[in-house]
Amino acid sequence: MPGLPLASVLAADLRTPSQGFSSMPLLVVGSVAFDSVQTPTDSRDNVLGGSAVYFSYAASYFTPVHLVGVVGRDWPAEHTALLRDRGIDTSGLEVVPTADTFRWRGKYLSNMNDRETLEVHLNVFGSFNPVLTDAQKHCPFVFLANGAPAVQHRVLDQVVGPKLVMADTMDLWIREQHDELMALFRRIDGLVLNDSEAKLLTGDENLVRAGHRICQMGPRFVVIKKGEHGAMFFADRETYVLPAFPTGVVVDPTGAGDSFAGGMMGYLAQRGDFSPQTLKEALAHGILVASFNVEDFSLERLKQIDQRDIQLRMEQYKRMLAF
Ligand code: AMP
Repeated sequence: MPGLPLASVLAADLRTPSQGFSSMPLLVVGSVAFDSVQTPTDSRDNVLGGSAVYFSYAASYFTPVHLVGVVGRDWPAEHTALLRDRGIDTSGLEVVPTADTFRWRGKYLSNMNDRETLEVHLNVFGSFNPVLTDAQKHCPFVFLANGAPAVQHRVLDQVVGPKLVMADTMDLWIREQHDELMALFRRIDGLVLNDSEAKLLTGDENLVRAGHRICQMGPRFVVIKKGEHGAMFFADRETYVLPAFPTGVVVDPTGAGDSFAGGMMGYLAQRGDFSPQTLKEALAHGILVASFNVEDFSLERLKQIDQRDIQLRMEQYKRMLAF
């Protein structure tokens, strides 16, 4: 279990002042993909996607990010350049010259919240075996983006003394690799998952009970993402929900969960403390970055914004919540 003041902070509900750390490096390990997406009104084929891509781009607004992933011979250099332009360290992006990049195809239903996976071609991601460099091993903040729990374990076996480890998961692993996932939960500080996954994991339709039950499985805090309905936070002594930012422009929800996690964890790494107040602010930042992400396909909308846009939306969000 990573040694950190998080447990005592959350359990005692202390307000630790910021410890003066700023912008600690954040490691993300996960999928890097070509996505093909169909929405009720539009579609895109083979656009840049993947859990680690959305996460790292979102987190890069707040802190230095090291991305570890794998791509194939079909990977264009422009995609790497796009990530580098945001200051993301892509030296951990392995290029396998003999096979293709991971491909995912999905279709959104008319409510734009539920989606069906139509095709998955694991390609190089199927034999992904991340080997971390010294710099990556010593990143104090670690995000295990959606991927096989065995791979997530292998990353954790390599990192040295992290301050905060968070992970994402999905229905596939809950169904097919339950034991590995349970063992992972005992090694992480925070878990993010969506509402249907929380219900599947606990067999409980009530998300409040489900959130607390997942906390009992190991993570010190759990965030349940509820798409257009925002996100719920659960820890020993805390339960709350923050609404999504109400944007009327929902073009493609792909990557909303990953960009949420990137915004949240990027903010935590920038602030360097885990007080309840900072965690709540982090959740709000995740929600806001995700609200930009859904306004266009792939990274198109995030490419247009900077920190000032996030700040501006934060002011609107706070005004909306004040009564
Ligand atoms: P999200 O919408 O936040 O849940 O994330 C969608 C992203 O996850 C897409 O860009 C996909 O490329 C990626 N993805 C889909 N299936 C998998 C999988 N089995 N393992 C890892 N990443 C995946």
